[in-house]
This record gives sequence, C-alpha cells and structure tokens, in this order.
Amino acid sequence: MQIVNFCILTCNINLSFEKKLNIKQTSILNILCYKTAYLRILFNVYALLQKTFCTDFLTKKKKINEGEIPQYYVKNSHEAIIEPEIFEAVQNEIKARDNLGRSTIHIFSSKLVCDDCGSYFGSKLWHSTDKYRCRIWRCNNKFKNKIKCRTPHLKEGQIKNIFVMAFNKLMSDKSGVIADCRAVLEKFCDTSEFNDKIEKLINEKDEIEKCAKELVLKNAKTPLDQDVYNEEYNKFLAKFENIKQKILDLEKQKAGQILKKCQAEAFLKKISKTENFLKEFNEELWFTLVKNITVKSNGASTVVFKNGKEVEVEI
Ligand SMILES: [Zn+2]
Repeated sequence: MQIVNFCILTCNINLSFEKKLNIKQTSILNILCYKTAYLRILFNVYALLQKTFCTDFLTKKKKINEGEIPQYYVKNSHEAIIEPEIFEAVQNEIKARDNLGRSTIHIFSSKLVCDDCGSYFGSKLWHSTDKYRCRIWRCNNKFKNKIKCRTPHLKEGQIKNIFVMAFNKLMSDKSGVIADCRAVLEKFCDTSEFNDKIEKLINEKDEIEKCAKELVLKNAKTPLDQDVYNEEYNKFLAKFENIKQKILDLEKQKAGQILKKCQAEAFLKKISKTENFLKEFNEELWFTLVKNITVKSNGASTVVFKNGKEVEVEI
C-alpha cells in the first residue's frame, strides 16, 4: 500500500481531516470509523465512473448520479491509493451497513446472525462500572421473541477465535479453494452478453430520440394538430423511458456480476498471499473474506466466506 497525501483530496472538498494518513498504519477499523461521507468522497475522487448521467433525452440535461445508475470502480485507471481488495471489502461493508440503516460501525456489526430467530447480534457492555467489565455480543432479539433465543452470547475474543479456526479449516484445502475461486472468476469475467444487449438497446434509444426530435422540428415548422402531436410525442417518450429502464436493469445486473467478480478476485488474491495457518485474528482478512457467521444454540458457529464456502466450528 502507499502513503496517501490526503491534502490533495481535502483541500478541494474542504474537510478537516488529517492532511496525511498512512493507510498502512491505519487499520481497516479505523478507516471505517472515518465518516462514511468522507470515504465516499475518497473513493469517488479516485475510483468511480458515471458520476453524472443524462436525465432528459431531448435537452441532454445532466444530473449527478446519486445512486440512480450503477457506478463502477475502475481498476488501474489511476494510481491506486488503496489495495483493490481492501477497497472492495470496505465499500461492501459501507453498502451493507447503509442498507441496514446503521450508523455505528464495529467490525462485528451486522456479521453475526442468530440461528434461532435470524436477527443480528449486537454488543452489550457488561459490568460497566466494576472490574468484570467486558463487551459481549448477543442476539438483538434474545428477549423480544415469545420463545427466548437459545443462542449463546460471545465475547470478542471468542468471535476472533471462531474466525481463526474457520480460516485455518478453509485453508486446509487451499488449492481447492483457489480452484473454486478461479472457476467463479471465469464465470463472471465475461460481460459480453450484457454489453451486446445494452448496445442494441442504446441504438434503439438513439433511434427513438431521433424520431422525437424530427417530430418536434416538424411541429415547430408547421404546427400539427396538438392532440395528435402530443399523442405521438408521448408514445416516443413512453418507449424511450421503457428502453432506458431496460438499460438500467441490465447495467445493474452487469454491475452485480462485476462486483461478484471483484469479490472473487479480492478473495483469491488475499488467500493466495496469506499463510495457510493463522495464529491470531487479522482484521483485513476478516473484512475481505467473511460474509457472516451464523451462531447456533448448540455452541457451534457456521462461518460463511465470501466465496460461498461454509465452515462449521465449535467453540
Ligand atoms: Zn435470536
């Protein structure tokens, strides 16, 4: 990773964050603890395409993309400020947390799932004022349901152990995991089918736009019956909107596939250069590799990795 000169970024966006930050020295948790908005700016400046899009096919009016259409992280389009796999992992975390409407960020937030009721685990501080003070994680709905959830609470050290054990189990078949990842990558690499469909629809859209313009010009030169004109115009508009929606849907699907490919790439890259045996918890690996952990009432836990592999461990 490289030292990032945040001065360049912050002077334009007028944010009072540290002017220089060495990402290498900053844990992922710390990165996540920075304001989400700041992260968005950071990543937008460097990595996103389609920051604006056309909202009106006649006036070509542009609008800032606020999530209406997909944005893409373009690898190697500029000097990397953060390793792509970390970028992906952090961005996915932000997305996942945004979707859940959560503002507080902890590395275990929205990661532990209660097998009894499907709720996430939340953290509680026990004995906050005495020497037995500790933070535990337990089902957020443990006492809210008619039948009390039987899943145990977990201390942070236990969660870390679960990850370490599951990782070591997963890596016992490292070559198999790598082969699976490569197969997934191969499957998701080809976006030509989407591209062909999108190109065809763009041509159709352009044709409708052309016809609509001709109609407008014709009406300007020789006023037509306005009811007929409006009916014709609205037909073009409806067709245009319909095609635009189809393009957006395909772009979304394509972006989803690219995201899966990026995740598989990140996963593959991370495990390829990681020792097979992990002695202690590693936050970057946690973020890059773990989708979630299902905690069961019998004390076992299933770690679901982002490559789809599930590993059961007992604590
Ligand atoms: Zn529960």
